[in-house]
Amino acid sequence: MDAARLHEYTEEMGEALSIDEVDRPSPSRSDHVVIEVEGAGWCQTDNHIIEGMWTDYVEQDLPMTLGHENAGEVVEIGDEVSTVEVGDKVICHPLMTCGQCRACRLGEDMHCENGQFPGLNTDGGFAEYLLTSERSTIKLDSVDPVEIAPHADAGITAYHAARKAVPHLHPGSHAVVIGIGGLGHIGLQALEAMSATTTIAVDIKDEALSLADRLGADHTVNSSEEDVAEAVEAITDGAGAEQVLDFVGADETTALAPEVVAPGGDHHIIGYGGHIHEPSQALVNGEFSFVGNIVGKYTELQELVALVEGGEMHLETSQYPLEEINDVAEALEHNEIEGRAVIVP
Ligand SMILES: [Zn+2]
Ligand SMILES: [Zn+2]
Repeated sequence: MDAARLHEYTEEMGEALSIDEVDRPSPSRSDHVVIEVEGAGWCQTDNHIIEGMWTDYVEQDLPMTLGHENAGEVVEIGDEVSTVEVGDKVICHPLMTCGQCRACRLGEDMHCENGQFPGLNTDGGFAEYLLTSERSTIKLDSVDPVEIAPHADAGITAYHAARKAVPHLHPGSHAVVIGIGGLGHIGLQALEAMSATTTIAVDIKDEALSLADRLGADHTVNSSEEDVAEAVEAITDGAGAEQVLDFVGADETTALAPEVVAPGGDHHIIGYGGHIHEPSQALVNGEFSFVGNIVGKYTELQELVALVEGGEMHLETSQYPLEEINDVAEALEHNEIEGRAVIVP
């Protein structure tokens, strides 16, 4: 089968991956599931993997097939698989978890001590077939695997943060969403679907803010023209926002926390790249927290699939054949992809 593989780390996105002929995977464990990949979302994380940015965090054996946002049809199952069968359409949680460790037993899939992450430390979905496990698969009812694929990582990550924020968002509260991009626009919709809070969308681009407006944001703030802290203060009557979802994670956005987070509230970090440099006294005085977020739980992906199946989530996707994968890598590097790109192997 064809697979788009990384042979060496590079900054040259235009020739990052090569299409190799490799063996089709087959189940070697009784819980293994092989899917024919129908859609595999391209993600900024793929660009980072290509650049070698993840080598300090995970062990990678090159060459490796990338692709961690996978959905498709089950074509082969191990002897003990009972919850999916050949012919089922599924989306895959990005981590193949062990089910036995304490984190797994707590439902904290991302903290599994024995997990494998296809596309990050084992072969992923930019190929005709993907090897995964029963614990990772979620059956789809009516949605197209190609359309839902990016939710396997981008969607679940945004949903996970929104899910943590929602219990603190009573009617009359305020939530700020910073960065209405690929993840932020999903996070905004999750808040709208799950709470009666008043949402404030912040971005530097007018197009992003008009998308936020169409998706139900109550207020929009263009941070290249307005002072965000002043705008939030005016909208919240000086109270601040109980929850902030920061999909940018730059120095400038984390620096907003002391001024925009209501006392006792949370500033969730989902985007990354910058630093947090606030005076410790500001956290003591406001008793607010910075909260990290990494992907999400299997059960959260189930919930997100339910929202998608129910027509509650709108996701812009564009599709590309496997042969064009390096063009997609290059285009994303230059911020030229609208919504999420999905490779259709
Ligand atoms: Zn991703
Ligand atoms: Zn585990």
